[in-house]
Amino acid sequence: MGFKSRARKRRSESSSAKGKGSEGKDEEYEGTLRCDIKGCENWADKGVGGRKMAYDRATDVWGTSGISRKVRKISLCKPCYRTWKKEKKGEPKEWE
Ligand SMILES: [Zn+2]
Repeated sequence: MGFKSRARKRRSESSSAKGKGSEGKDEEYEGTLRCDIKGCENWADKGVGGRKMAYDRATDVWGTSGISRKVRKISLCKPCYRTWKKEKKGEPKEWE
């Protein structure tokens, strides 16, 4: 009996060590796409809410100097996309 309970204990120990990676998932997500907004180091992968956007549309908000890559479609992280959306909404259509 004593042997059996000991074996059990060992098993639970090794499984808890294995589950280490699932904790703190907000800490470091390993993505493949970086956000193209200058100074922003977030991931722009689809899995974390990233978006693709035409360069020209993004320059409306950040300007050409605010975007780190000049490509037809840049990648935006979720917070940057939200910023863009907010800016576009708050922008008056006609200012005259
Ligand atoms: Zn960003």
